Amino acid sequence: MTFEPSNVVVVGSGPTGLVLAAELALGGAEVLVVDRRPTAELAGSRAGGFHSRTIELLDQRGVADRFLAEGTTVQVLSFGSTSLDVSGFPTRHPYTLGLWQNHIERILLGWVEELGVSIRRGVEVTGLAQDEHGVDLHVADGEPLRAAYIVGADGGRSVIRRSAGIEFPGADATRTNLVAEVEVTEETPTGVRYDEIGVHGLGVLENGHTVRVVVTERELGPSTEPSLADLSAALREVYGTDFGVHDPTWISRFSDATRQAAAYRDRRVLLAGDAAHVHPPSSGQGIGLGVQDAMNLGWKLAQVVGDVSSDTLLDTYQAERHPATARVLGFAMAVSLTQRADARTAALKDAIDMLLAFDAPRDALAGLASGLDVAYDVSGGHPLLGRRVPDLDLVTADGPTRVFELLHQARPVLLDLGAALDPHGLPDRVRHVPARCDADWVLPVVGPVRPPAALLVRPDGHVAWVGDGTGGGLSEALARWC
Ligand SMILES: Cc1cc2nc3c(=O)[nH]c(=O)nc-3n(C[C@H](O)[C@H](O)[C@H](O)COP(=O)(O)OP(=O)(O)OC[C@H]3O[C@@H](n4cnc5c(N)ncnc54)[C@H](O)[C@@H]3O)c2cc1C
Repeated sequence: MTFEPSNVVVVGSGPTGLVLAAELALGGAEVLVVDRRPTAELAGSRAGGFHSRTIELLDQRGVADRFLAEGTTVQVLSFGSTSLDVSGFPTRHPYTLGLWQNHIERILLGWVEELGVSIRRGVEVTGLAQDEHGVDLHVADGEPLRAAYIVGADGGRSVIRRSAGIEFPGADATRTNLVAEVEVTEETPTGVRYDEIGVHGLGVLENGHTVRVVVTERELGPSTEPSLADLSAALREVYGTDFGVHDPTWISRFSDATRQAAAYRDRRVLLAGDAAHVHPPSSGQGIGLGVQDAMNLGWKLAQVVGDVSSDTLLDTYQAERHPATARVLGFAMAVSLTQRADARTAALKDAIDMLLAFDAPRDALAGLASGLDVAYDVSGGHPLLGRRVPDLDLVTADGPTRVFELLHQARPVLLDLGAALDPHGLPDRVRHVPARCDADWVLPVVGPVRPPAALLVRPDGHVAWVGDGTGGGLSEALARWC
């Protein structure tokens, strides 16, 4: 297969790589995904779901129902011993979705295949070399692949990040956990247990006999792959027995190390998802952060390779996603500090619970943990600017619709709610939609906001311009984003 230099190669077919590939395809770019895994099958169930904003992002593309149909909606957001309730937030998805990552990846793969994306498996990337016009991607067996841009969505130990020489500063691990799926000979207690070592959990999987184990190790474990003997020893420390664990289908180790790439872009190489940031998994943020990266980068990169925008648009990817993610990494570190049962942690939890008895701090943290409060720095004074557009009901000349339905094609939308804007001269890609909206404009955490007369909504659902009844500033916003 030959690749024209206008193509993008995405390294990694995890949740981030798959969503990014879908976004690039929707944006009209030719994209190839490569992954070292020989098949799409994921060893172990891994992540357990994602939060409100991630569900909204998938809803913006018309595929959220596929995930909702297979998972269960649950309330798992918590900090200290307080549950962070998003049920009162103004969103159509005021909940967390519980669904194992192997199912999430399967559903994403189905969507990506419908969009005609090529995926090559069994391709291990070993390094890269970039020049002014493109990037050569070195692979373990075979000729290098050449592309105009490469995105490393190749996980926390990213070869792309290391090959591009991008620093990965942050906090070293203070605690390691083993996670496994194993058979047992003894009955296991179910549920989560906290002690002075950390947090532990046991639960029987869908097949009725395999047990998913998460156990904190007393000593910091090495970065090598753990063995059944390691798991057995860690279980005996905590439970006094190893429950006769045998025949593991998956054993892995994760830590509370928290790191973020110093740069998300080095010329023609970009990073997304775990390749750009790692953190303790306990607050369930990993998939959502990767999906948000992918939705932020996909349309921008498609516009750059399609010669719609200059490559400086790519710099807004880091400018927006780096600070937004840094806040979530801080939250994940703070949550993991509370996952222990000892006198100091109990005192910390008491202090947190005292603060979270008040609505404002509880809402602020719930907005952060659910991803619903993300606000990119788009200049201007209206509170909608840079934030997610709410999914309100609309009436258009073609009948009733809702805002997210207008975003299904991943194109910018100029929503005209009475400003009577002149659509002449708008770029072809911008969809001009005159509509009536009778709903109240209320944002999570922020509260009610002044109803806009018109809005320019980017393909990722973030508001790039708000009209006050005139078209003032619209041409600048169109030039900047579209
Ligand atoms: C125990 C545990 C529980 C978790 N729970 C949650 C949760 O509840 N919610 C949540 O949102 N997140 C959770 N996470 C985190 C989540 O699993 C990750 O954040 C998520 O998988 C990151 O997706 P990604 O696509 O960025 O990277 P990955 O899923 O790591 O995908 C990277 C892909 O790149 C491929 N690859 C790597 N190197 C190469 C190479 N050199 N060449 C070619 N291909 C390569 C890999 O094969 C892989 O397919 C959890 C993680 C763990 C370990």
